[in-house]
Amino acid sequence: MATPRADTPRRGNEYPIPETIRAWVLGGPAELSLVEKPVPQPVSAEVLVRVDAIAVCATDIEIIRHGVPAMIDGGLPFNRGFTPGHEYMGTIVKLGPTVDEFQVGDRVTVEVHAGCGRCQRCREGMYTSCLNYGYRAKGHRANGFSTDGGFAEYAVNNINTLAHIPDDMSDAEATLIVTAGTAMYGLDVMGGVIAGEGVVVIGPGPIGLMGVGVAKALGGQPVILTGTRDRRLEMGKRLGADETVNVSREDPVDAVHRLTGGKGVQYVLECSGAPNALNEAARMVNRGGRICLAAFPAEPVPVDLAYLVRNNIYVFGIRGEGKSATHRAAALLAQKRFDAKLIHTHTFPLADVPTAIRYARERIEDAIKVVVQIRET
Ligand SMILES: [Zn+2]
Ligand SMILES: [Zn+2]
Repeated sequence: MATPRADTPRRGNEYPIPETIRAWVLGGPAELSLVEKPVPQPVSAEVLVRVDAIAVCATDIEIIRHGVPAMIDGGLPFNRGFTPGHEYMGTIVKLGPTVDEFQVGDRVTVEVHAGCGRCQRCREGMYTSCLNYGYRAKGHRANGFSTDGGFAEYAVNNINTLAHIPDDMSDAEATLIVTAGTAMYGLDVMGGVIAGEGVVVIGPGPIGLMGVGVAKALGGQPVILTGTRDRRLEMGKRLGADETVNVSREDPVDAVHRLTGGKGVQYVLECSGAPNALNEAARMVNRGGRICLAAFPAEPVPVDLAYLVRNNIYVFGIRGEGKSATHRAAALLAQKRFDAKLIHTHTFPLADVPTAIRYARERIEDAIKVVVQIRET
């Protein structure tokens, strides 16, 4: 909810804070254990968030099994008492010194990155590309990547990583805002002005599906979603896709040309990581079109560079959710411009995080987001 106005009673200290908290910590690869940790203390520009719910992301599974892309003091995150988890929401229960941007009791969702605030990229608003990434002493934080995340009862957050959420938004829906923020940032870096422009989203995973919702909310026309799984494509339709293409039945480049009267589109948001996706995206955009890569293949892949150059095609890559995109995504969801709740959620309690992670791994093909509900609502 919004910061209370003068006429709303100030909420007092109605959130007793324990001395120790339960938190999942990563031992060796794939070794998670539930431990008691001292409650973390917010310093200047930070707050303590009581975590109410957290979504399990494919990247969390990657971090827990292989360490990367999490990195602590330049090394892998194993056996450092590290708590993973980055897609969480909760309630502010304590303010650090000087914090007046939020109040105790505010419901918030979090984004991952607080940049150092002092490097060139942070000054440009590109804090997800902070030049002091992982350098905690300089103020950089990335929840669940370089600093403790949300698979715990409480987490400390920099105020720049928080966005207010309305009272009528469920905990589970609020955990999806950071995902929508990543999709929003992808559209931002391509130019952000998309009303009336064609947008193709490749890959109906969580970021792709949120990309469809954001692109349609911003007026994209047509918004075309391509993928291999009918169930997820169907969900994309309900989130606002004008057209969907199952690439196992029709060549996606042919389909985009068929659906746009041969013109192609202005923007492609690539969320599949398929090895040939960039070459296909290049043939979906028109001359001077723009492609943003939000996923990547596991191995290096051949790219038809001559085609990109000859057609003046711009290619961008993003990491995370820079330029306050999470706030804009939160605004779209608060205005109910698309319904993130269509992505079904399946809920587990905090004590069952390993089961939740296993369940999420098994269902990675389905349009289901696994949410750990840490606090009953
Ligand atoms: Zn994630
Ligand atoms: Zn920085």
